[in-house]
Amino acid sequence: MNLQDRPVTILGAGIGGLAAATAFARRGARVSVIEAAPELSEVGAGLQISPNGMAVLDALGLGPAMRQSGIEAGDIALIDGPSGRGVAHLPLDPARAGGRPYLLMHRADLLEILARAARDAGCQIRLGTRVEAVSEGPAGVTLDLSDGREIVDFLIGADGVKSRVRPVLNGDDAPFFTGQVAWRALVPGGDMPARAEVHMGPGRHLVRYPLRGGTLTNIVAVEERSTWAEEGWHHPDDPAVLQRAFAGFGGDVRAQLAQVPEVRIWGLFRHPVARNWHGGQIALLGDAAHPTLPFLAQGANLALEDAWVLAQAMDSLPRAGALEAYQSARRPRVARAIATANGNARNYHLRNPLLRRGAHLGLGALSSAAPGLLVGRFDWLYGHDVTQGAAATSRGA
Ligand SMILES: Cc1cc2nc3c(=O)[nH]c(=O)nc-3n(C[C@H](O)[C@H](O)[C@H](O)COP(=O)(O)OP(=O)(O)OC[C@H]3O[C@@H](n4cnc5c(N)ncnc54)[C@H](O)[C@@H]3O)c2cc1C
Repeated sequence: MNLQDRPVTILGAGIGGLAAATAFARRGARVSVIEAAPELSEVGAGLQISPNGMAVLDALGLGPAMRQSGIEAGDIALIDGPSGRGVAHLPLDPARAGGRPYLLMHRADLLEILARAARDAGCQIRLGTRVEAVSEGPAGVTLDLSDGREIVDFLIGADGVKSRVRPVLNGDDAPFFTGQVAWRALVPGGDMPARAEVHMGPGRHLVRYPLRGGTLTNIVAVEERSTWAEEGWHHPDDPAVLQRAFAGFGGDVRAQLAQVPEVRIWGLFRHPVARNWHGGQIALLGDAAHPTLPFLAQGANLALEDAWVLAQAMDSLPRAGALEAYQSARRPRVARAIATANGNARNYHLRNPLLRRGAHLGLGALSSAAPGLLVGRFDWLYGHDVTQGAAATSRGA
Protein backbone atom coordinates (compact mmCIF):
# COMPACT_ATOMS: atom_id res chain seq x y z
CA MET A 1 0.00 0.00 0.00
CA ASN A 2 2.89 2.33 0.81
CA LEU A 3 4.17 2.10 -2.75
CA GLN A 4 1.03 3.28 -4.53
CA ASP A 5 2.05 6.11 -6.92
CA ARG A 6 5.49 6.43 -5.27
CA PRO A 7 8.34 7.19 -7.68
CA VAL A 8 11.16 4.64 -7.63
CA THR A 9 14.33 4.90 -9.73
CA ILE A 10 16.37 1.76 -10.34
CA LEU A 11 19.94 1.91 -11.57
CA GLY A 12 20.70 -1.14 -13.73
CA ALA A 13 18.49 -3.27 -15.99
CA GLY A 14 20.19 -6.55 -15.07
CA ILE A 15 18.48 -9.50 -13.47
CA GLY A 16 18.03 -7.86 -10.05
CA GLY A 17 17.04 -4.44 -11.41
CA LEU A 18 14.40 -5.76 -13.80
CA ALA A 19 12.92 -8.13 -11.22
CA ALA A 20 12.72 -5.25 -8.74
CA ALA A 21 11.12 -3.03 -11.40
CA THR A 22 8.27 -5.51 -11.88
CA ALA A 23 7.90 -6.24 -8.17
CA PHE A 24 7.63 -2.50 -7.34
CA ALA A 25 5.39 -1.64 -10.30
CA ARG A 26 2.98 -4.47 -9.48
CA ARG A 27 2.57 -2.84 -6.07
CA GLY A 28 1.63 0.48 -7.65
CA ALA A 29 4.99 2.31 -7.75
CA ARG A 30 5.96 4.52 -10.70
CA VAL A 31 9.20 2.87 -11.77
CA SER A 32 11.96 4.25 -13.95
CA VAL A 33 15.00 2.07 -14.79
CA ILE A 34 18.27 3.63 -15.97
CA GLU A 35 20.63 1.40 -17.94
CA ALA A 36 23.98 2.23 -19.53
CA ALA A 37 23.78 -0.39 -22.27
CA PRO A 38 22.18 0.86 -25.50
CA GLU A 39 20.14 -2.33 -25.77
CA LEU A 40 19.17 -5.21 -23.50
CA SER A 41 21.25 -7.87 -25.19
CA GLU A 42 23.59 -10.28 -23.46
CA VAL A 43 26.69 -11.99 -24.71
CA GLY A 44 25.75 -15.66 -24.68
CA ALA A 45 26.02 -17.46 -21.38
CA GLY A 46 24.01 -19.76 -19.18
CA LEU A 47 22.49 -19.43 -15.74
CA GLN A 48 21.23 -21.98 -13.27
CA ILE A 49 18.00 -20.76 -11.73
CA SER A 50 17.39 -22.79 -8.61
CA PRO A 51 14.01 -23.30 -6.88
CA ASN A 52 14.59 -20.36 -4.49
CA GLY A 53 14.96 -18.01 -7.49
CA MET A 54 11.98 -19.69 -9.17
CA ALA A 55 9.85 -18.88 -6.12
CA VAL A 56 10.23 -15.19 -6.96
CA LEU A 57 9.71 -15.67 -10.69
CA ASP A 58 6.58 -17.74 -9.98
CA ALA A 59 5.25 -15.04 -7.65
CA LEU A 60 5.82 -12.46 -10.40
CA GLY A 61 3.76 -14.62 -12.75
CA LEU A 62 6.76 -15.56 -14.90
CA GLY A 63 6.89 -19.28 -14.09
CA PRO A 64 5.26 -20.50 -17.34
CA ALA A 65 7.62 -18.44 -19.56
CA MET A 66 10.60 -19.69 -17.55
CA ARG A 67 9.57 -23.32 -17.79
CA GLN A 68 9.07 -22.91 -21.52
CA SER A 69 12.53 -21.41 -22.12
CA GLY A 70 14.59 -23.36 -19.60
CA ILE A 71 15.65 -26.99 -19.30
CA GLU A 72 14.69 -28.68 -16.04
CA ALA A 73 17.82 -30.27 -14.56
CA GLY A 74 17.31 -33.74 -13.08
CA ASP A 75 20.54 -33.70 -11.11
CA ILE A 76 23.97 -32.21 -10.54
CA ALA A 77 26.71 -34.73 -11.40
CA LEU A 78 30.12 -34.53 -9.73
CA ILE A 79 32.77 -36.07 -11.98
CA ASP A 80 36.49 -36.75 -11.52
CA GLY A 81 38.01 -34.53 -14.22
CA PRO A 82 41.19 -36.48 -15.10
CA SER A 83 39.46 -39.89 -15.41
CA GLY A 84 36.03 -38.67 -16.53
CA ARG A 85 34.45 -41.09 -14.02
CA GLY A 86 31.31 -40.17 -12.08
CA VAL A 87 31.92 -39.48 -8.37
CA ALA A 88 28.48 -38.62 -7.06
CA HIS A 89 25.24 -37.07 -8.06
CA LEU A 90 22.76 -34.81 -6.34
CA PRO A 91 19.19 -35.53 -7.47
CA LEU A 92 17.23 -32.28 -7.82
CA ASP A 93 13.81 -33.43 -6.72
CA PRO A 94 11.34 -30.51 -7.00
CA ALA A 95 9.37 -32.08 -4.13
CA ARG A 96 12.16 -30.91 -1.78
CA ALA A 97 11.50 -27.30 -2.86
CA GLY A 98 7.75 -26.77 -2.97
CA GLY A 99 7.49 -28.39 -6.43
CA ARG A 100 9.67 -25.73 -8.06
CA PRO A 101 12.17 -26.86 -10.71
CA TYR A 102 15.90 -26.21 -11.08
CA LEU A 103 16.22 -24.62 -14.53
CA LEU A 104 19.14 -24.21 -16.94
CA MET A 105 18.53 -20.95 -18.80
CA HIS A 106 20.15 -18.84 -21.45
CA ARG A 107 20.86 -15.52 -19.79
CA ALA A 108 19.45 -13.55 -22.73
CA ASP A 109 16.16 -15.48 -22.43
CA LEU A 110 15.83 -14.65 -18.74
CA LEU A 111 16.58 -10.97 -19.38
CA GLU A 112 14.00 -10.88 -22.15
CA ILE A 113 11.33 -12.42 -19.91
CA LEU A 114 12.13 -9.94 -17.13
CA ALA A 115 12.25 -6.90 -19.45
CA ARG A 116 8.90 -7.80 -21.03
CA ALA A 117 7.32 -8.19 -17.60
CA ALA A 118 8.72 -4.83 -16.45
CA ARG A 119 7.41 -3.02 -19.52
CA ASP A 120 4.03 -4.76 -19.25
CA ALA A 121 3.85 -3.57 -15.63
CA GLY A 122 4.31 0.02 -16.85
CA CYS A 123 8.00 0.56 -16.01
CA GLN A 124 9.97 3.03 -18.07
CA ILE A 125 13.37 1.62 -19.14
CA ARG A 126 15.87 4.26 -20.26
CA LEU A 127 18.63 2.60 -22.24
CA GLY A 128 21.96 4.18 -23.18
CA THR A 129 22.04 6.38 -20.06
CA ARG A 130 25.08 5.99 -17.79
CA VAL A 131 25.12 7.20 -14.21
CA GLU A 132 28.50 8.84 -13.61
CA ALA A 133 28.06 9.86 -9.96
CA VAL A 134 25.54 9.49 -7.14
CA SER A 135 25.12 11.58 -3.99
CA GLU A 136 22.49 11.57 -1.25
CA GLY A 137 21.28 14.91 0.18
CA PRO A 138 18.28 16.44 1.93
CA ALA A 139 16.49 17.16 -1.37
CA GLY A 140 16.82 13.58 -2.63
CA VAL A 141 19.40 11.52 -4.49
CA THR A 142 21.36 13.41 -7.15
CA LEU A 143 22.32 11.44 -10.24
CA ASP A 144 24.92 12.80 -12.65
CA LEU A 145 23.93 11.13 -15.88
CA SER A 146 25.62 10.91 -19.25
CA ASP A 147 22.77 13.16 -20.50
CA GLY A 148 22.28 15.58 -17.60
CA ARG A 149 21.55 15.78 -13.87
CA GLU A 150 18.49 14.49 -12.06
CA ILE A 151 17.27 14.43 -8.47
CA VAL A 152 15.19 11.40 -7.54
CA ASP A 153 13.14 10.58 -4.45
CA PHE A 154 14.33 7.00 -3.97
CA LEU A 155 17.12 5.06 -5.71
CA ILE A 156 17.74 1.34 -5.90
CA GLY A 157 21.35 0.53 -6.82
CA ALA A 158 21.13 -2.65 -8.90
CA ASP A 159 24.22 -1.76 -10.89
CA GLY A 160 26.25 -4.89 -10.41
CA VAL A 161 29.72 -5.72 -9.22
CA LYS A 162 31.24 -2.35 -10.18
CA SER A 163 28.42 -0.42 -8.52
CA ARG A 164 28.56 3.38 -8.33
CA VAL A 165 25.99 3.28 -5.53
CA ARG A 166 27.71 0.89 -3.10
CA PRO A 167 30.62 3.32 -2.33
CA VAL A 168 28.14 6.10 -1.49
CA LEU A 169 26.94 3.98 1.44
CA ASN A 170 30.10 2.03 2.26
CA GLY A 171 33.14 3.87 0.98
CA ASP A 172 35.48 1.91 -1.27
CA ASP A 173 35.68 -1.79 -0.49
CA ALA A 174 38.85 -3.74 -1.02
CA PRO A 175 38.28 -6.68 -3.34
CA PHE A 176 41.13 -9.16 -3.56
CA PHE A 177 42.16 -11.51 -6.34
CA THR A 178 41.37 -15.10 -5.31
CA GLY A 179 44.16 -16.54 -7.45
CA GLN A 180 41.59 -18.01 -9.83
CA VAL A 181 40.52 -17.14 -13.33
CA ALA A 182 37.38 -18.29 -15.12
CA TRP A 183 36.53 -18.77 -18.77
CA ARG A 184 33.08 -18.99 -20.21
CA ALA A 185 32.10 -20.30 -23.60
CA LEU A 186 29.15 -21.63 -25.54
CA VAL A 187 29.54 -24.65 -27.82
CA PRO A 188 26.92 -25.65 -30.39
CA GLY A 189 25.15 -28.95 -29.68
CA GLY A 190 26.85 -31.25 -27.19
CA ASP A 191 24.03 -33.76 -26.78
CA MET A 192 24.12 -33.36 -23.01
CA PRO A 193 21.59 -34.91 -20.66
CA ALA A 194 19.39 -32.47 -18.71
CA ARG A 195 21.81 -31.93 -15.84
CA ALA A 196 24.65 -29.77 -14.63
CA GLU A 197 28.06 -31.46 -14.53
CA VAL A 198 30.98 -30.40 -12.35
CA HIS A 199 34.30 -31.91 -13.52
CA MET A 200 36.79 -31.60 -10.65
CA GLY A 201 40.57 -31.74 -10.99
CA PRO A 202 43.70 -30.60 -9.19
CA GLY A 203 43.67 -26.80 -9.11
CA ARG A 204 40.81 -26.51 -11.60
CA HIS A 205 37.24 -27.46 -12.39
CA LEU A 206 34.80 -27.17 -15.25
CA VAL A 207 31.01 -26.84 -15.14
CA ARG A 208 28.86 -27.56 -18.16
CA TYR A 209 25.18 -27.88 -18.92
CA PRO A 210 22.81 -27.78 -21.89
CA LEU A 211 20.79 -24.74 -22.96
CA ARG A 212 17.89 -24.06 -25.33
CA GLY A 213 16.59 -27.59 -25.78
CA GLY A 214 20.14 -28.99 -25.95
CA THR A 215 21.16 -26.95 -28.99
CA LEU A 216 23.98 -25.33 -26.97
CA THR A 217 26.33 -26.36 -24.17
CA ASN A 218 27.35 -23.74 -21.62
CA ILE A 219 30.86 -24.07 -20.20
CA VAL A 220 32.43 -22.27 -17.25
CA ALA A 221 35.99 -23.38 -16.45
CA VAL A 222 38.06 -22.23 -13.49
CA GLU A 223 41.82 -22.49 -13.00
CA GLU A 224 44.03 -21.48 -10.08
CA ARG A 225 46.70 -19.06 -11.22
CA SER A 226 49.16 -16.73 -9.61
CA THR A 227 48.95 -14.14 -12.38
CA TRP A 228 46.26 -11.54 -12.11
CA ALA A 229 43.45 -11.22 -14.64
CA GLU A 230 41.02 -8.33 -14.84
CA GLU A 231 37.58 -8.48 -13.21
CA GLY A 232 34.66 -8.20 -15.65
CA TRP A 233 33.09 -10.73 -17.97
CA HIS A 234 33.96 -9.45 -21.39
CA HIS A 235 37.69 -9.97 -21.98
CA PRO A 236 38.36 -12.26 -24.92
CA ASP A 237 40.99 -15.01 -24.63
CA ASP A 238 42.44 -17.56 -27.03
CA PRO A 239 40.48 -20.86 -26.88
CA ALA A 240 43.86 -22.66 -27.08
CA VAL A 241 44.73 -21.36 -23.59
CA LEU A 242 41.55 -22.91 -22.19
CA GLN A 243 42.21 -26.15 -24.08
CA ARG A 244 45.76 -26.36 -22.65
CA ALA A 245 44.51 -25.72 -19.10
CA PHE A 246 42.17 -28.75 -19.34
CA ALA A 247 44.37 -31.01 -21.49
CA GLY A 248 44.62 -33.42 -18.54
CA PHE A 249 40.86 -33.98 -18.37
CA GLY A 250 39.27 -37.18 -19.64
CA GLY A 251 35.85 -38.22 -20.93
CA ASP A 252 34.66 -36.03 -23.80
CA VAL A 253 35.75 -32.75 -22.19
CA ARG A 254 38.85 -32.25 -24.36
CA ALA A 255 36.91 -33.01 -27.55
CA GLN A 256 34.25 -30.49 -26.56
CA LEU A 257 36.77 -27.80 -25.68
CA ALA A 258 38.33 -28.31 -29.11
CA GLN A 259 35.06 -26.98 -30.56
CA VAL A 260 34.98 -23.78 -28.52
CA PRO A 261 34.67 -20.99 -31.10
CA GLU A 262 35.42 -18.05 -28.78
CA VAL A 263 36.02 -17.62 -25.09
CA ARG A 264 35.96 -14.88 -22.42
CA ILE A 265 38.22 -14.83 -19.38
CA TRP A 266 38.03 -12.90 -16.13
CA GLY A 267 39.71 -12.81 -12.75
CA LEU A 268 37.70 -13.97 -9.75
CA PHE A 269 37.73 -11.41 -6.95
CA ARG A 270 36.31 -11.65 -3.45
CA HIS A 271 34.41 -8.60 -2.22
CA PRO A 272 33.09 -8.18 1.29
CA VAL A 273 29.30 -8.25 1.60
CA ALA A 274 28.36 -4.54 1.88
CA ARG A 275 28.03 -3.43 5.51
CA ASN A 276 25.29 -0.91 4.68
CA TRP A 277 22.62 -1.95 2.19
CA HIS A 278 20.70 1.29 2.50
CA GLY A 279 20.78 4.98 3.35
CA GLY A 280 17.66 7.09 3.96
CA GLN A 281 16.80 7.26 0.26
CA ILE A 282 18.92 4.53 -1.29
CA ALA A 283 18.92 0.73 -1.25
CA LEU A 284 21.32 -1.76 -2.81
CA LEU A 285 20.48 -5.15 -4.24
CA GLY A 286 22.09 -8.05 -6.10
CA ASP A 287 25.78 -7.92 -6.99
CA ALA A 288 25.92 -4.24 -6.00
CA ALA A 289 25.40 -5.34 -2.37
CA HIS A 290 27.05 -8.76 -2.44
CA PRO A 291 29.14 -9.87 -5.43
CA THR A 292 29.63 -13.63 -5.22
CA LEU A 293 31.97 -16.13 -6.82
CA PRO A 294 30.19 -18.34 -9.35
CA PHE A 295 30.79 -21.59 -7.37
CA LEU A 296 27.27 -22.06 -6.07
CA ALA A 297 25.39 -20.51 -9.02
CA GLN A 298 23.51 -18.17 -6.71
CA GLY A 299 24.30 -14.56 -7.72
CA ALA A 300 21.23 -14.15 -9.90
CA ASN A 301 19.03 -16.18 -7.56
CA LEU A 302 19.99 -14.01 -4.60
CA ALA A 303 19.35 -10.86 -6.66
CA LEU A 304 15.83 -12.13 -7.44
CA GLU A 305 15.22 -12.80 -3.75
CA ASP A 306 16.50 -9.32 -2.80
CA ALA A 307 14.16 -7.70 -5.33
CA TRP A 308 11.08 -9.39 -3.89
CA VAL A 309 11.96 -8.81 -0.23
CA LEU A 310 12.76 -5.13 -0.79
CA ALA A 311 9.49 -4.45 -2.63
CA GLN A 312 7.47 -6.38 -0.09
CA ALA A 313 9.10 -4.59 2.88
CA MET A 314 8.65 -1.15 1.35
CA ASP A 315 5.02 -1.83 0.57
CA SER A 316 4.25 -2.95 4.11
CA LEU A 317 6.30 -0.63 6.34
CA PRO A 318 7.30 3.02 6.50
CA ARG A 319 10.51 3.62 4.54
CA ALA A 320 13.10 3.66 7.35
CA GLY A 321 11.73 0.54 9.03
CA ALA A 322 11.32 -1.19 5.67
CA LEU A 323 14.94 -0.62 4.68
CA GLU A 324 16.19 -1.87 8.03
CA ALA A 325 13.91 -4.93 7.83
CA TYR A 326 15.18 -5.63 4.30
CA GLN A 327 18.83 -5.60 5.33
CA SER A 328 18.20 -7.69 8.46
CA ALA A 329 16.24 -10.26 6.49
CA ARG A 330 18.73 -10.57 3.66
CA ARG A 331 22.26 -10.12 4.98
CA PRO A 332 22.67 -13.35 7.02
CA ARG A 333 21.28 -15.55 4.26
CA VAL A 334 23.40 -13.90 1.59
CA ALA A 335 26.53 -14.12 3.75
CA ARG A 336 25.92 -17.85 4.27
CA ALA A 337 25.46 -18.46 0.53
CA ILE A 338 28.65 -16.56 -0.25
CA ALA A 339 30.66 -18.46 2.37
CA THR A 340 29.36 -21.74 0.92
CA ALA A 341 30.37 -20.66 -2.61
CA ASN A 342 33.86 -19.72 -1.38
CA GLY A 343 34.28 -23.18 0.20
CA ASN A 344 33.22 -25.01 -2.97
CA ALA A 345 36.33 -23.95 -4.90
CA ARG A 346 38.58 -25.55 -2.25
CA ASN A 347 36.60 -28.79 -2.34
CA TYR A 348 36.58 -29.03 -6.13
CA HIS A 349 40.30 -28.30 -6.56
CA LEU A 350 41.97 -30.75 -4.13
CA ARG A 351 45.56 -31.29 -5.30
CA ASN A 352 46.80 -34.01 -2.96
CA PRO A 353 45.93 -37.29 -4.77
CA LEU A 354 45.30 -39.22 -1.55
CA LEU A 355 43.07 -36.52 -0.15
CA ARG A 356 41.21 -36.24 -3.46
CA ARG A 357 40.67 -39.98 -3.71
CA GLY A 358 39.44 -40.12 -0.13
CA ALA A 359 37.06 -37.21 -0.63
CA HIS A 360 35.68 -38.68 -3.85
CA LEU A 361 35.19 -42.12 -2.26
CA GLY A 362 33.35 -40.52 0.64
CA LEU A 363 31.12 -38.50 -1.69
CA GLY A 364 30.45 -41.56 -3.84
CA ALA A 365 29.49 -43.71 -0.86
CA LEU A 366 27.15 -41.03 0.48
CA SER A 367 25.61 -40.48 -2.93
CA SER A 368 24.83 -44.22 -3.33
CA ALA A 369 23.70 -44.88 0.23
CA ALA A 370 21.79 -41.68 0.96
CA PRO A 371 21.50 -39.32 -2.01
CA GLY A 372 18.86 -37.32 -0.13
CA LEU A 373 21.40 -36.57 2.59
CA LEU A 374 23.86 -35.08 0.12
CA VAL A 375 21.37 -32.78 -1.57
CA GLY A 376 19.65 -32.14 1.77
CA ARG A 377 22.68 -30.04 2.78
CA PHE A 378 21.24 -27.42 0.39
CA ASP A 379 17.64 -27.46 1.61
CA TRP A 380 18.23 -24.16 3.46
CA LEU A 381 19.16 -22.62 0.11
CA TYR A 382 16.96 -24.18 -2.56
CA GLY A 383 13.96 -24.88 -0.29
CA HIS A 384 13.62 -21.28 0.89
CA ASP A 385 10.73 -19.23 -0.50
CA VAL A 386 11.08 -15.51 0.24
CA THR A 387 7.58 -14.85 -1.10
CA GLN A 388 6.15 -16.76 1.86
CA GLY A 389 7.57 -14.31 4.43
CA ALA A 390 5.37 -12.95 7.20
CA ALA A 391 3.69 -10.16 5.24
CA ALA A 392 4.29 -11.59 1.78
CA THR A 393 1.62 -11.48 -0.86
CA SER A 394 1.86 -12.73 -4.41
CA ARG A 395 -0.06 -10.02 -6.17
CA GLY A 396 1.71 -10.62 -9.45
CA ALA A 397 0.82 -14.28 -9.64
C1 LIG B 1 30.10 -16.96 -15.69
C2 LIG B 1 29.07 -16.65 -14.68
C3 LIG B 1 28.15 -17.62 -14.42
C4 LIG B 1 27.14 -17.36 -13.49
N1 LIG B 1 26.22 -18.32 -13.27
C5 LIG B 1 25.22 -18.07 -12.40
C6 LIG B 1 24.21 -19.03 -12.20
O1 LIG B 1 24.24 -20.11 -12.79
N2 LIG B 1 23.20 -18.74 -11.35
C7 LIG B 1 23.15 -17.54 -10.67
O2 LIG B 1 22.22 -17.33 -9.88
N3 LIG B 1 24.10 -16.60 -10.85
C8 LIG B 1 25.12 -16.82 -11.70
N4 LIG B 1 26.07 -15.88 -11.91
C9 LIG B 1 25.98 -14.60 -11.19
C10 LIG B 1 24.98 -13.67 -11.81
O3 LIG B 1 25.19 -13.53 -13.19
C11 LIG B 1 25.04 -12.29 -11.15
O4 LIG B 1 25.09 -12.45 -9.76
C12 LIG B 1 23.80 -11.49 -11.53
O5 LIG B 1 23.84 -11.18 -12.90
C13 LIG B 1 23.71 -10.21 -10.70
O6 LIG B 1 22.61 -9.47 -11.14
P1 LIG B 1 22.53 -7.92 -10.88
O7 LIG B 1 21.23 -7.48 -11.43
O8 LIG B 1 22.84 -7.63 -9.46
O9 LIG B 1 23.74 -7.29 -11.69
P2 LIG B 1 24.04 -7.33 -13.26
O10 LIG B 1 23.36 -8.48 -13.90
O11 LIG B 1 25.51 -7.18 -13.37
O12 LIG B 1 23.34 -6.00 -13.81
C14 LIG B 1 23.83 -4.71 -13.55
C15 LIG B 1 23.31 -3.76 -14.63
O13 LIG B 1 23.64 -2.42 -14.27
C16 LIG B 1 24.10 -1.74 -15.41
N5 LIG B 1 24.98 -0.67 -14.94
C17 LIG B 1 26.13 -0.82 -14.22
N6 LIG B 1 26.68 0.38 -13.96
C18 LIG B 1 25.86 1.32 -14.52
C19 LIG B 1 25.91 2.74 -14.58
N7 LIG B 1 26.89 3.45 -13.99
N8 LIG B 1 24.92 3.39 -15.23
C20 LIG B 1 23.89 2.70 -15.81
N9 LIG B 1 23.82 1.35 -15.79
C21 LIG B 1 24.78 0.66 -15.15
C22 LIG B 1 24.85 -2.81 -16.20
O14 LIG B 1 24.99 -2.46 -17.57
C23 LIG B 1 23.95 -4.02 -15.99
O15 LIG B 1 22.93 -4.12 -16.97
C24 LIG B 1 27.09 -16.11 -12.82
C25 LIG B 1 28.04 -15.14 -13.07
C26 LIG B 1 29.03 -15.40 -14.00
C27 LIG B 1 30.06 -14.37 -14.28
